[in-house]
Amino acid sequence: MKHRHVELPSFVEVGKGVLDRTKIFVESLKAERVVMLCGKISYELAGREVESIVKPSEVFSLRNPRDEVSKLVAKLSYSDVDCVIAVGGGRIIDSGKILSSELNVPLVTVPTTASHDGIASPVASFRNGEVFSIFTRPPSAVIADTSVISLCPIRLIRAGFGDLISNITAVKDWRLAKDVEPIDYSEIAASIAYMPAEMLLEKTPEVDELVRGLIMSGVAMSIAGSSRPASGAEHKFSHAIDMLGFGKALHGEQVGIGTIIMEYFHEIAYEGDWMKVRQAMERFGCVVKLKDVGISKEEAIQALLKAKSIRPSRYTILDELKPERRDFEKAIEVTNV
Ligand SMILES: [Zn+2]
Repeated sequence: MKHRHVELPSFVEVGKGVLDRTKIFVESLKAERVVMLCGKISYELAGREVESIVKPSEVFSLRNPRDEVSKLVAKLSYSDVDCVIAVGGGRIIDSGKILSSELNVPLVTVPTTASHDGIASPVASFRNGEVFSIFTRPPSAVIADTSVISLCPIRLIRAGFGDLISNITAVKDWRLAKDVEPIDYSEIAASIAYMPAEMLLEKTPEVDELVRGLIMSGVAMSIAGSSRPASGAEHKFSHAIDMLGFGKALHGEQVGIGTIIMEYFHEIAYEGDWMKVRQAMERFGCVVKLKDVGISKEEAIQALLKAKSIRPSRYTILDELKPERRDFEKAIEVTNV
């Protein structure tokens, strides 16, 4: 791996009632002008408290974060903002990443859900018809209050489980890629992403363990300098579903089912245990059936066929095995997704 500068969150707090730790970090920056982004619900859940603790200069409540963030970048570019705090779910945190990267100031994320690994990652993703990801600076601090996160709908936490378990196939894909083409493989990043995912196979995690795993996933991406340790063929499958407009599942639900299917192919080719992945997901209450997220078998096959052509430079098990329609049909049948 070529040498480069790696930025990681330097201040991470995970636990019950840790919101007041935000102040310690912000004070350490000697920040004078702090802006806070939040959503309507996340303001009630945690934003109000963070506001009273940190006393930011301005609080922006975003309704459509994706559209509003570019206006905020323009508005704040010539003002002396020292720090951005993003309190909320994925879209608010992603907006915080873009704003803080554009302003070149530290970001503090205060997640109110644990539905994906964007809490600490250096990637902002947007899905609306098309999916695109922007590489950003990672947050400098992550304040994950598990008493707040535990209040979010259980479906979101189960989606977070799906996004974390997907590191199993993502890392296996990365290891295949390393043998085929010279890319920036990092064993440290691979291990940091793989270990918390592997833990899910043995043990049903508490919320704080899941959050820690998702944070490690983000850290792995920063070390790798790409989303590679947490995004392989199972993410291509999910992106294909989004591009084709099938179903209305959460990102973590789609990649979770994708992980079962890709683990099946890894098991055929080299090693894997798709049954173990499926059982772990079932134990946690995750969806494992396509029909439960409104996707038909035919739609899943179309998405799998499309997944083969997404981002061809990212070598995965789909390039290794080159499965055809009948192979996908069999995978869906055998794994009973
Ligand atoms: Zn993901």
